Amino acid sequence: MKSEPLSYLCSDNIGPWEIYLAQVDRVTPYLGKLAFWVEDLKRPKRILVVDVPIQMDDGSVAHFEGYRVHHNTFRGPAKGGIRYHQDVTLSEVMALSAWMTIKNAAVGLPYGGGKGGIRVDPRKLSPGEIERLTRRYTSEIGIIIGPDKDIPAPDMGTGAREMAWMMDTYSMNVGRTAPGVVTGKPISVGGSLGRQDATGRGVFVTAAAAAEKIGLPVEGSRVVVQGFGNVGNAAARIFHDHGAKIVAVSDVTGAVRNDAGIDPYDLTQYVRQMGGVKGYPKAEAIPAADLLTTPCEFLVPAALEKQITEANAWKVQCKIIAEGANGPTTPAADDIFNERGILVIPDVIANAGGVTVSYFEWVQDFNSFFWTEDEINAKLERLMRQSFEAVWQVAQDKKVSLRTAAYIVAATRVLEARSLLGLYP
Ligand code: NAD
Repeated sequence: MKSEPLSYLCSDNIGPWEIYLAQVDRVTPYLGKLAFWVEDLKRPKRILVVDVPIQMDDGSVAHFEGYRVHHNTFRGPAKGGIRYHQDVTLSEVMALSAWMTIKNAAVGLPYGGGKGGIRVDPRKLSPGEIERLTRRYTSEIGIIIGPDKDIPAPDMGTGAREMAWMMDTYSMNVGRTAPGVVTGKPISVGGSLGRQDATGRGVFVTAAAAAEKIGLPVEGSRVVVQGFGNVGNAAARIFHDHGAKIVAVSDVTGAVRNDAGIDPYDLTQYVRQMGGVKGYPKAEAIPAADLLTTPCEFLVPAALEKQITEANAWKVQCKIIAEGANGPTTPAADDIFNERGILVIPDVIANAGGVTVSYFEWVQDFNSFFWTEDEINAKLERLMRQSFEAVWQVAQDKKVSLRTAAYIVAATRVLEARSLLGLYP
């Protein structure tokens, strides 16, 4: 019997979720008998929408809309970040949660997929307001999160500070210290060494592995980075440390370019003082729209989804795109890159370093035994290289893009779990 489409996907609620559905449709012909279960991938398991009222510093009360979505839990508890951004929508959080299912399965982590977010511009709130927002949101979603149920982590607009507040709020509510409820925490409350840079490091490791395959040396290559936050900043520094040249960087304030190379450490100092890359004196300002088409060997989108579309994909001038962000490339742009022979390392592999070290953090919290940063980085690199290699082989065997190959690997794992677990009741 054919299932009806989800009713809440009305016209203004489409976007990233539709992109995800298109990606699932592309992989379905490769799933063999498991395609019988594919509808499971197209439906989030549960969605929680919460009202988050907080007292503002001026005494008024403001209401914010928050979400937590469990896309899938066949392979383990839900896992995925929390986004604070003014454009967060349910459709976006659904897509992000589904990408977590695929990502966790693609790198073989024992998790399902989840994601959360609050529709808020955190830059407009004071630290006290952000703390009250985070604590109230944590209490509201407390019914579905927990160390063995759903483990949030940072995403855009959140970081270690918010994770500490989330851990504390959850711990207060359950009456015990529960470090395993969130990852990406500060080190002193159960965080893991290496977590801060893990996503950017994974972007570099997979980009370098892809470069090896096509005979492209990292040293001396040019790198363009969109977004200079947790992911973009770490990726830029690690590329720089390996002899690559960062030729253009952007963030929400603007874009800058210097063909002789931008020192990301120096730029980080500048951004710390000035709040953004705009006005950086050692590079020239360029229109934000020109950043993605700046000539380079490696393009690292590390900001928002849907940045590379049919409209600009023909103009992109790089050899490898390493997706630091989630969902930066639309399916139509993917087709253009396939045609042009530009290698796209899909988000579900390229940016999986963050959730991988989150997994290490969670394991360390359960054992109350912590590894050194070198041990973490070595384990991360090994796992990322293995995952990339497996996806590369599938792409070669089936003559498909790396994205479709990653989805084949991941969807097969998720749906194998589904077929083994069976239907309840
Ligand atoms: P962040 O908040 O630390 O940084 C985001 C950066 O993007 C900031 O520099 C911001 O100024 C910039 N930005 C925002 N809008 C922009 C625009 N229109 N043009 C250019 N730059 C813009 O966020 P983050 O944690 O680095 O996350 C970035 C992306 O990476 C997101 O898609 C996120 O889902 C993904 N991701 C993050 C992690 C993680 O561990 N933090 C893991 C996997 C994937």
